[in-house]
Amino acid sequence: MQRVAFIGLGRMGHGMAGRYLDAGFTVAVWNRSKAKAEDLIARGARWSTSPEDAAIDADAVVTMVADDDASREVWLTKDGAAATMKAGTLAIECSTVSYQHALDMARELHSRGLIYIDCPVTGLPEAAAAGKLTLLVGADAADLDKARPFLDPIGNTVRHFGAVGTGTVFKLINNLMGAVQIAGLAEGVAIAEHAGLDMKLVAEALATGAVASPQVIRHSKRMITRDFSGASFTAALRHKDATYAVRLAETLLPGVPVSRAVLAAYDEARAHAADDDEGKMIEIVSRPK
Ligand code: NAP
Repeated sequence: MQRVAFIGLGRMGHGMAGRYLDAGFTVAVWNRSKAKAEDLIARGARWSTSPEDAAIDADAVVTMVADDDASREVWLTKDGAAATMKAGTLAIECSTVSYQHALDMARELHSRGLIYIDCPVTGLPEAAAAGKLTLLVGADAADLDKARPFLDPIGNTVRHFGAVGTGTVFKLINNLMGAVQIAGLAEGVAIAEHAGLDMKLVAEALATGAVASPQVIRHSKRMITRDFSGASFTAALRHKDATYAVRLAETLLPGVPVSRAVLAAYDEARAHAADDDEGKMIEIVSRPK
């Protein structure tokens, strides 16, 4: 039976770890706060006292934590997973990290005989719990082949962009464009409200017209009704992704004025309600200046 260590049981990681249990893997789990692990432990996961403890005897270690700092902490500190992983073990980073971080981690873990692949994901927490994520992979082809048995339970689409780091490049572009759409939508909705339009009609027209991307469809309803229940992606995480994306852009294509403007908008959204739904951008845009 394959053994997986799963680290980071937030909105996304909790459902992903559950998928390994459903698929019959032997699963060790660790999360900074233990409460989020309780039901997984009841379903048969082994609670671990640290990432290092979780990684003992694992064939693969999968991480799903917030950002670069959290990733560094769970892989590389003295209690980090790398301390006990055996040579040849897979290190699968599903967290959305910066491009430079993915390269640094690959180099560091490779020097310890481990195989690091970046595998950020798209899909909401419901897709994570159903094993229906899209996996955006950066890895040597041979490493990806080794990783596939550990990707099957969590994703139904694998997009292999090339060498380590390339999955992260695509993920950052994708989420930067998402940020642009959501911030633009907030401005459009606020203008429509101030102009006194029938907002039921606006919602219907947005959801069926030429700008009706999945982001616009999802967030237009939430913004117009100001119903942000069931937040799945926070302003803090969107801001983090836009920051990493703009940092990458600066090394390749300095300028990107739209991306910089949207990053500034998400600076404000994070200050307004970091741990709330990213769609609360509408509250910032529509308040009197
Ligand atoms: P979340 O619910 O906020 O969970 C964040 C996780 O990171 C928690 O397990 C948290 O531990 C852990 N963490 C944060 N700082 C840490 C630190 N310094 N040391 C150790 N652990 C730390 O976030 P999420 O929505 O699951 O997102 C996780 C990752 O997936 C992020 O990189 C995000 O960008 C990406 N992502 C999210 C979505 C989405 O729809 N939510 C979609 C695609 C990708 P605690 O539980 O103890 O706080």
